[in-house]
Amino acid sequence: MPLSTLCLRCGLCCDGTLFTHVPLRPDEVAPLKALGLPVREREDGRPVLPQRCAALDGRRCTAYAERPEGCRRYHCQLFSALSEGEVSLEEALSVVDGAHALLATAGEARGPEVEDYLDRHFRGRHRRYSAQ
Ligand code: SF4
Repeated sequence: MPLSTLCLRCGLCCDGTLFTHVPLRPDEVAPLKALGLPVREREDGRPVLPQRCAALDGRRCTAYAERPEGCRRYHCQLFSALSEGEVSLEEALSVVDGAHALLATAGEARGPEVEDYLDRHFRGRHRRYSAQ
């Protein structure tokens, strides 16, 4: 299926590239801990799942059936564009490959052009911010 093909080629929403954490509901904490996943607290006491997610194996979520609501609800810009037929799978995969190439070249010193690319194609209104 094209959408899962896209996500399995990407992984950027779970590997710490796009976000620092996933917000959790209080009732999601115990099930995630039972899976062996680390849960942290923000300064305001709200629980979060830090990213890079410990459930990620390569670019695949190993907790997919039990992933928290924040993961279920999140669709990146590119996913939405593909699901609505605004871009083809080939175009979407090219954007993903472009992101990985930019990130590999930039290393730890990601400049504004990389962040702009990530904002434009993936984050949209979901801007990166720190959990702490
Ligand atoms: S639980 Fe799965 S979908 Fe959610 S951040 Fe972790 S790897 Fe991604």
